[in-house]
Amino acid sequence: MAATLLQKVWDAHTVRILPTGQTQLFVGLHLIHEVTTPQAFDELRQRGWKVRFPSRTFGTVDHIIPTRDIARPFKDDMAEAMMSALERNCRDFGIPLWDLSHGNQGIVHVIGPELGLTQPGMTIACGDSHTSTHGAFGAVAFGIGTSQVRDVLASQCLAMEPLQVRRIDVTGHLAPGVYAKDVILEIIRQLGVKGGVGFAYEYGGGVVDRMSMDERMTMCNMSIEGGARVGYVNPDDTTAAYLEGRPFAPQGDAFGRARTWWKSMASDANARYDDRVTIDGSALEPIVTWGVNPGQSIGVGGRMPSPADVAPGERQAVLDALDFMGFAAGSRIEATPIDVAFIGSCTNSRLSDLREAAAIVKGHRVSPRVRAMVVPGSQGIAKAAVAEGLDQIFRDAGFEWRGAGCSMCLGMNPDKLQGAEMCASSSNRNFKGRQGSPTGRTLLMSPAMVAAAAIAGEVVDVRKVLSPALTAR
Ligand code: SF4
Repeated sequence: MAATLLQKVWDAHTVRILPTGQTQLFVGLHLIHEVTTPQAFDELRQRGWKVRFPSRTFGTVDHIIPTRDIARPFKDDMAEAMMSALERNCRDFGIPLWDLSHGNQGIVHVIGPELGLTQPGMTIACGDSHTSTHGAFGAVAFGIGTSQVRDVLASQCLAMEPLQVRRIDVTGHLAPGVYAKDVILEIIRQLGVKGGVGFAYEYGGGVVDRMSMDERMTMCNMSIEGGARVGYVNPDDTTAAYLEGRPFAPQGDAFGRARTWWKSMASDANARYDDRVTIDGSALEPIVTWGVNPGQSIGVGGRMPSPADVAPGERQAVLDALDFMGFAAGSRIEATPIDVAFIGSCTNSRLSDLREAAAIVKGHRVSPRVRAMVVPGSQGIAKAAVAEGLDQIFRDAGFEWRGAGCSMCLGMNPDKLQGAEMCASSSNRNFKGRQGSPTGRTLLMSPAMVAAAAIAGEVVDVRKVLSPALTAR
């Protein structure tokens, strides 16, 4: 019978159906980091349990680590305690850890794919919401809470509710200056931040088929912001080409066998979906958020909503968001002054993101009123970017070039907004207080748009500063 990738992966990993109606799913890969694991390991110790599959568990540090001064002990006692706890736990339980002294350290959702740990047909779990990123490879990847981290450490299994599948086709061609970030922001705008509750999002269509793996990761990363439990793209030749030769990918003849199996896990052509949505990619323009959730966005040439334009039930939320952001109803987002420009996070800190942004800033200077920083997603990306001279392009323009980590995506490390600063950010969440200041304001956009805003000192349409040589994709 024809099946979706979700169904195939689910069936292949089902241990049994629990009396609750949930499925006990085997987890192929468990990625851990410093924030959501200390309590889980404490519980294992209290119960005298071991980690069931240390060989399927890998650790890195990302959320709390400083991106500038990494001397130990860290100045922040809480960060030092979390870091020390992860080091001790990985040592005691036999889990590999890529710490700051290791060339593989980076944001957990960046290093999994980069090292070839993330592969098609897998189930993957991590104590971070944006684990959906790994779905770009045709994996079914869940963000989980601390008690589930404990469960996976102890049993390598999760109890999961079944999911419906919504197929989202992105058709046409993206115009120059329109990126995967704009596509996913538009999907969330159209379907809503809760529109995906109970669903897995399967992305396809010509635009997604032509995307690089970096772009697919950006799409899947933000599935969770649309309420979907997971997001994925069916594995294809692009997926296999990305994985070939990566340290943890199958090698030699085993790679050929794996590639055949990966393709067999893709959704069948006549698979049945619970819902279907089509987005016209050709109609998209660069998107910027104006509010306090990723669904509150508009095209860069558009105007913010007026309460009269929205359904009665949404009016108060719109008024609250406009008030928090300091925007007048119906005003334009373009020319909004910014104080900070942040290029980083597991959504948009990969080498292709840095290349796109560097192409914009090359030969220009950051506006004197803007504090701008670039934070590569991993030490591997930082090394590759330096080899290409991207770091120098950013430095010459006045950006700070930092070490790998989550940085200003969230306020758990020294990189924070101050007061009511307005930040053009390539990250994934614009919630109140997300970037470390309770009154800080976040405008989500693509890395190229952040780069353009850093130079201009305000929100600008990146299409106006792009090279005319760029073509539609
Ligand atoms: S970059 Fe942001 S969203 Fe991604 S793992 Fe770090 S804190 Fe979470």
